[in-house]
Amino acid sequence: MSQTTGATPDVRLVLLGRQGAGKGTQAARLAEAYDVPHISTGDMLRVAVKEGTPLGRKAKEIMDAGHLVSDELMVGIVNERIHLPDAARGWLLDGFPRTVAQGEALEAITADLPLDLVVNLEVPEDVVLKRISERRVCSTCGAIYSLSSPPTNPWTCDVCGGRVVQRDDDTEEAVRKRLDAYTADTAPLLPFYGERKLLVEVDGEGSPDEVFARLRTAIDARVTARG
Ligand code: AMP
Repeated sequence: MSQTTGATPDVRLVLLGRQGAGKGTQAARLAEAYDVPHISTGDMLRVAVKEGTPLGRKAKEIMDAGHLVSDELMVGIVNERIHLPDAARGWLLDGFPRTVAQGEALEAITADLPLDLVVNLEVPEDVVLKRISERRVCSTCGAIYSLSSPPTNPWTCDVCGGRVVQRDDDTEEAVRKRLDAYTADTAPLLPFYGERKLLVEVDGEGSPDEVFARLRTAIDARVTARG
């Protein structure tokens, strides 16, 4: 059963969309608005790579090549994360599930408190290619910038003062592989969630504020209907 105990209702969300659709930017804003943790599996892996943990050592080559880390590894990481105390009132998953097998596993590990909604942030492939080539990220906290909205001081994160860089996997070759992986492995999640009546499509083109407003409208409608 869902419940409303704090100022915002409990909410469990998945954000789907191509690389560069704006998931990271919007997920951070939504997590703040609904007061739930933003769980980005890509960010978790990048931290593990940076720290040189066993997981990071396993993941680095796979990520740099634009391939997917194994379902087994990813499900284990997410299962642990969504059961931490700060996720008791809900969570927002960004970058997971990435395959139908991960979607099925998520269903199993959230059987007691199931998903409320899956939002597909729709942005055409030519637009995401341009966005990714201009994307820059903070190597410390993961804050996202672009050549058209850079940090105030060159290469220095406004949030934490970390170094702003281009992601290792944002090279043209790796991006094309990731977009192919999206079409082959992740896009089948759209009918998967459509059949479960959990899917809503949101237009991801426009300014970040416009997209955020659309997302809030879609999510609020679902949370209100759920009660
Ligand atoms: P992202 O930041 O979501 O684009 O993820 C960056 C990279 O991390 C991906 O290209 C994959 O190599 C890996 N990754 C992130 N999330 C997953 C996942 N759910 N399943 C498999 N690999 C993932």
